[in-house]
Amino acid sequence: MVDMDKIVSLCKRRGFIFQSSEIYGGTGSCWDYGPLGVELKNNVKRAWWRDTVQNRADMVGLDASILMHPRVWKASGHLDHFTDPMVDCRACKKRFRSDKIDDEVWVHYCEATKGNKFNIPGGEACKHCGAKRTLCPACGKGELTEPRQFNLMFKTFMGPVEEEAAVTYLRPETAQGIFVNFDNVLQSMRLKLPFGIAQIGKSFRNEITPGNFTFRTREFEQMEIEFFVIPGTDEEWHQRWIDERFAWYPKYGIGKENIRLREHEKDELAHYAKRTADIEYLFPMGWSELEGVANRTDFDLKQHAQFSGKALEYFDEESKQKIVPYVIEPSAGADRATLAFLVDAYKEEEVRGEKRVVLNFHAELAPIKIAVLPLLKKNDRIVETAKQLSVDLRKRWHSVYDDTASIGRLYRRQDEVGTPFCVTVDVQTVGDDKAAADENVTIRDRNTMEQVRVPMALLPAVMEKLMAGQWSEVARESGVKRDQAQAE
Ligand code: ATP
Repeated sequence: MVDMDKIVSLCKRRGFIFQSSEIYGGTGSCWDYGPLGVELKNNVKRAWWRDTVQNRADMVGLDASILMHPRVWKASGHLDHFTDPMVDCRACKKRFRSDKIDDEVWVHYCEATKGNKFNIPGGEACKHCGAKRTLCPACGKGELTEPRQFNLMFKTFMGPVEEEAAVTYLRPETAQGIFVNFDNVLQSMRLKLPFGIAQIGKSFRNEITPGNFTFRTREFEQMEIEFFVIPGTDEEWHQRWIDERFAWYPKYGIGKENIRLREHEKDELAHYAKRTADIEYLFPMGWSELEGVANRTDFDLKQHAQFSGKALEYFDEESKQKIVPYVIEPSAGADRATLAFLVDAYKEEEVRGEKRVVLNFHAELAPIKIAVLPLLKKNDRIVETAKQLSVDLRKRWHSVYDDTASIGRLYRRQDEVGTPFCVTVDVQTVGDDKAAADENVTIRDRNTMEQVRVPMALLPAVMEKLMAGQWSEVARESGVKRDQAQAE
């Protein structure tokens, strides 16, 4: 498993993710997606939207606002319950979530080795004296305070006057925007149960201990579904959504061995939940939540009906009765999913004595789909043809043209950002004094480094097949060039 520092450094070096406000020293908990990062994350969101909204007849989309009526958060329980237990170090003043403190690496001054300082992995005891952590994990010296509950919502003021009546909150989840629009969507779209409403958008949580790169930040994006069902069918639908969502990540390349389901214990369940299963990924810091799939019962609709005075019900034609649907909520994080796809795609290998770093992204997720590379940049015909090709390909796929290094280096650069296919234009393509142009180009596969040569005119059709994973079919039709020549 790759360590997080390698991912952070690759992300910065190759324009995936930068620290926010870096020139001012950075903020600890916010990150900016660079040119390749925004493509990757958009592709993740697009794949999710296509699979959960576009391809399903029982789903519709929504984009609700981040600022909502403050009563929403009273009704939802966030004002009273959306808290984490916090402890402070009396010496260095650092704050920790008391329920996650044992996951932190801790500093220990060991009596058994004359007070030597050790950094010990979270949850483990000192090898020398057997002691377990009781003091502050960061400074290793301070006593910790008793836990206090800390509300994670960001407070702000609506309008020009900073007074109590103007207090509102940045939403800590997108779900509530869906619940308060339940009736609007139901009536305007004439929906029948079961149906779902999906939304992608920013959420904000004033996390006590953000960290692990983009895994836990204070501003992040969620991809949430609220799927409304007839009470009594909720358990079956819950299981269907757990299975569906669990299968989604491997479909886009996550290794099956790196993902698992974890059932919430009864005492761990949120106040609204009947059952929750988390989809966890084996991140560099260990198994951690990627997505939660909860049965929220009729809690939210009933709360909002009570607090707003507006009925949030469904008229069931069959039983001729009004019912309050139950809701199944698959709630995923766009940033966590993007990070998992990055971590899972990272591979280092040796090719003829040299290290090759590859991000083997699924073609749908890769930020750049095709790089067009001229084999000789001093040959005008090669350069012109390659540039024109990249212009043509761009209309359908995100493509780039690059001639700023030798072909071997250009391939490595594209491997490192996960570009599935490179197309090279060479002398044979454009012809010279000795031979006529054959108008064929070479396509190289990122993972296997195999090459095929195809007529330029067929490139769009061939690419369509390659993006759909049909390399062997294309290779069979065109004959693979196995020598991997061209200075790789
Ligand atoms: P955790 O236990 O890790 O704090 P949670 O159980 O509070 O997470 P949910 O409320 O279930 O998280 O949120 C649904 C999803 O939103 C999570 O599975 C995760 O992908 C994403 N998410 C939640 N909090 C954050 C955060 N601070 N930074 C990035 N993504 C987040």
